Amino acid sequence: MSEIKYCSLCGRSEEDAGPFMDVGGGLKVCGRCMDNAMKMAEKLTALTKNSDNIENFMAGITPVVKNEELNNTPEQTDPDGEKPDKKEGDDSDKQPEKGGSVRFAGGFGLPNVGFLNMADLQNMMFGGGGVKKKTKDKSTPVIDIKDIPLPHKIKALLDEYVIGQEQAKKVMSVAVYNHYKRVAAEGMKPEDFDERLRDVEIEKSNMLLIGPTGCGKTYLVKTLAKLLDVPLAITDATSLTEAGYIGDDIESVVSKLLAAADNDVEKAETGIIFIDEIDKIAKKKNSHSRDVSGESVQQGMLKILEGAEVEVPVGANSKNAMVPLATVDTRNILFVCGGAFPELDEIIKRRLRKQTSIGFNAELKDTLDKRKDILSEVTVEDIKKFGMIPEFVGRLPVICTMEGLTEEMLVEILKEPKNAIIKQYQKLLSMDEVDLVFTDEALMSIAKKALLKDTGARALRSIIEDIMLDIMYEIPKDDNIGRVTITEEYLEGNGAPVIETRG
Ligand code: ADP
Repeated sequence: MSEIKYCSLCGRSEEDAGPFMDVGGGLKVCGRCMDNAMKMAEKLTALTKNSDNIENFMAGITPVVKNEELNNTPEQTDPDGEKPDKKEGDDSDKQPEKGGSVRFAGGFGLPNVGFLNMADLQNMMFGGGGVKKKTKDKSTPVIDIKDIPLPHKIKALLDEYVIGQEQAKKVMSVAVYNHYKRVAAEGMKPEDFDERLRDVEIEKSNMLLIGPTGCGKTYLVKTLAKLLDVPLAITDATSLTEAGYIGDDIESVVSKLLAAADNDVEKAETGIIFIDEIDKIAKKKNSHSRDVSGESVQQGMLKILEGAEVEVPVGANSKNAMVPLATVDTRNILFVCGGAFPELDEIIKRRLRKQTSIGFNAELKDTLDKRKDILSEVTVEDIKKFGMIPEFVGRLPVICTMEGLTEEMLVEILKEPKNAIIKQYQKLLSMDEVDLVFTDEALMSIAKKALLKDTGARALRSIIEDIMLDIMYEIPKDDNIGRVTITEEYLEGNGAPVIETRG
């Protein structure tokens, strides 16, 4: 029996990878890895021949490896030669490379073979090798104006998944429609527009979603990205720090997006980045110490929100030696920031009270306190008072508030959306030819329990999972069972579910 051999680099078997070459020292390498190794050797040789690089080396500056095949068109180089986002403590961009150059991070001077290890080598060959750069072909744009669904169609699609939040769905549909029209406009010719509109620049419509925990902020953005088939990266603002501090630096969100776009730079550049818990990076009141995760993080995000060329590591979480970098332009990335903004309602009420402080004051105070939709009155000034810096709010021109979920909405969430949790269990049990039914009272009781947890719709899943565990365990045992009805009594611990046999 012949022994199965595996490539010492990529691990594929000889059956998959074709005949191996014996490179000595007991190592066997497949054709593709051999080819990649040769290409890399060529690049390293070219690098050592370039006197600029030698100078760089002498100056202790990271060498820049230009990859000819991956280079961009001349028009993709930045005309005004502006630097990409410069990070504190990162001196590797002293010689920033624009649009599509690939270089290796880490200030190790000329590549010294001693720094290479197998993981780095594999990363270069497989992880990093897969960066898809921008194509020159303008005839196949990523966003085609004819394909952007109209706002009412986007909203109708969202309706199938997201319960309530009518205003947010509407605002989002219009903002997204405008955003992708703006992206499409960039690929159009000046003649396509009326003369007086040719020089008009459409500004970016980044969004700020304000609403309590579990009301569907993330879900709305996720659904939208899925429907539009654009890559999405979700990150938590609390994990972000300024470059140089422990934690993800701000640019890592772009790196996540690139990964979500399968390393396709062009696709990533029209994707969506959702930054949750943005209220947690509000400026701290009365703080004199350096604010690592607050105001400075907001500052650090400004350029990215607006549009900057960011060098991100490909196939890794952080920049380090031998990880290839790709340049991603964030100009057409739609940023959505979300947060619960606790006590923002108090700021709004205070302002409203002040505005109408003459006359019917007492009565107004009462009505204001009772209003559940007070967040919908939010203004930019309120958000600034909360602790977001003006430049930051200025880069999120679309502000949208979402309502807290009511009992009725929670019931609907349980049963109505296309992917409703109850439907999921019904599908599972239908595979055992069992009907699963929840009475209206049972659904109401689940919604009530969820409300008590104060985590919006998030609580629903854990409650349902608890309820369904025994059912999913017991029911398949008995072939005669045709229907199970979950009742309020069962949920309250006063009885068993109603079981009906096949008849
Ligand atoms: P948050 O507002 O805190 O970002 P999420 O969007 O993460 O809340 O909501 C948690 C889960 O609750 C979602 O994955 C989704 O299943 C459900 N959910 C929340 N709000 C809604 C809604 N309005 N319609 C349908 N499902 C919802």
